[in-house]
Amino acid sequence: MPCALVWFRNDLRLSDHPALHTAVAQGYTAVPVYIHDESTADTGAASRWWLHHSLHALQQDLQRLGSRLIILTGDSSAALLGAARDTGARTLFWNRRYDPAGTAQDQQVEAALAAAGIATQSFSAALLREPADFGKADGSPYRVFTPFWKALQKAGPPRVPLAAPATLPGIEKLPRRGVALKALGLLPASGWDRQFYTHWQPGESTAWNRLQAFLDDALLDYPQDRDRPALPGTSGLSPHLHFGEITPARIWHLAQAWAAGQSRSGAIAAVEAFLRQIAWRDFAHHLLFHFPHLRERPLDARYDAFPWATDYAAALAAWQHGETGIPVIDAGMRQLWRSGWMHNRVRMLCASLLTKNLLVPWQQGARWFADTLVDADVANNSFGWQWAAGCGADAAPWFRIFNPVTQGERFDGDGSYVRRWVPELQQLPAQWIHKPWQAPAPVLAAAGVTPGENYPLPIIDLAESRTRALDAWSQVKQQRR
Ligand code: FAD
Repeated sequence: MPCALVWFRNDLRLSDHPALHTAVAQGYTAVPVYIHDESTADTGAASRWWLHHSLHALQQDLQRLGSRLIILTGDSSAALLGAARDTGARTLFWNRRYDPAGTAQDQQVEAALAAAGIATQSFSAALLREPADFGKADGSPYRVFTPFWKALQKAGPPRVPLAAPATLPGIEKLPRRGVALKALGLLPASGWDRQFYTHWQPGESTAWNRLQAFLDDALLDYPQDRDRPALPGTSGLSPHLHFGEITPARIWHLAQAWAAGQSRSGAIAAVEAFLRQIAWRDFAHHLLFHFPHLRERPLDARYDAFPWATDYAAALAAWQHGETGIPVIDAGMRQLWRSGWMHNRVRMLCASLLTKNLLVPWQQGARWFADTLVDADVANNSFGWQWAAGCGADAAPWFRIFNPVTQGERFDGDGSYVRRWVPELQQLPAQWIHKPWQAPAPVLAAAGVTPGENYPLPIIDLAESRTRALDAWSQVKQQRR
């Protein structure tokens, strides 16, 4: 049987994997390869933790089918050419990526392998619609979500997901330069990841289980519960999606099948609300593909000249460590540090406080998220930060500055989310939990809270900083787009 390389990247799964599926369907012995290039890898620390365990799960899944994962290091083109030489493979299959580094890699590999006489086939797999093929009637890319979402719905269901191969033949000639997973050194040495294990289990089978549990237990209430950070109201699929352990096409079809089997009212609206979020992911990737500077520079170019603060080191550190004295913010930032994840509503609040009240450039916050989120994703993260900072394509307007006290009271009314992550405030009554600095002294004493001693006073006055932010914004607003 001729053999072919199947290059795994951000698609660490066996089912609905067009590259693997096609290699097998065309009669090849698939040689599964993963390449780690430390010199260009900019995966954050929490994501490296996930990557390690996801690769481990993939190794095991491949072994169960009779194959194995070959891990190579160094430049992708050189590693693939070496593997082709060692195994005698004359064809390479892979699924495409849409971030600037990934698309550059796609092009380099294609050229390098063609020059060596090796055939290549790449596939669409990670999104509902390929950004290059999905645009407005005049061919230009979408910049506003609602028309994008309408067009996506009009385009009909995404491709039908593919089954995993039932078995894979063993590899006769192994590439010579394969390394052990441990040699990649992806796990942190500090023990910081200890609590990640209680929250997450990377891998394709867990992704399926998580989706199934979400469909069974939470989807029907998603429209009401998705904004309540204390509830398990969202799917928790973001890291699984980022590493490609499950595809949006699979999620789309399973969610629609779930709705078709429901007699309860609200099922169709719930599925639509959920798939709309999956579509935001596609939209963020669409923007990154068409505007590759999304990570570094604002989409609204007027913000290039925004008067950000410059002496923000202390504020940034307090924010990063969950020591701002504003409970819902501290709860979010501590949830992030301990679990590698933060609820979407709280991400918006933390990003708004940093960029608007503290006037810290959004890139600083994005960098911290990229390092500490297990779902860190250059498209979703850059898009989320630009949205929150008001400088994105279809962003929250600058003058909409979230008030973390009223938002906390609205979405975490009884304070359970704050109590979970900020134990210093556990005994405070709900009435004061989102604004302990206003609580009467006897209430604070009874709850064991001494502001400024065992819980910080707010590092910023919310009303004053709001006015300062609006002044800064009015300077930018006067400029022409
Ligand atoms: P669910 O509500 O169950 O949604 C299902 C899926 O839809 C998610 O897994 C995700 O893939 C996608 N999705 C949901 N909301 C968004 C959104 N606003 N934008 C894009 N895709 C979305 N998401 C990331 O995956 N990686 C990031 O690095 C990231 N950084 C963010 C930074 C900021 C400042 C903000 C405001 C949001 C960010 N998000 C990011 C989007 C969102 O917060 C997470 O996708 C979501 O909280 C993940 O939880 P879930 O899987 O339970 O979501």
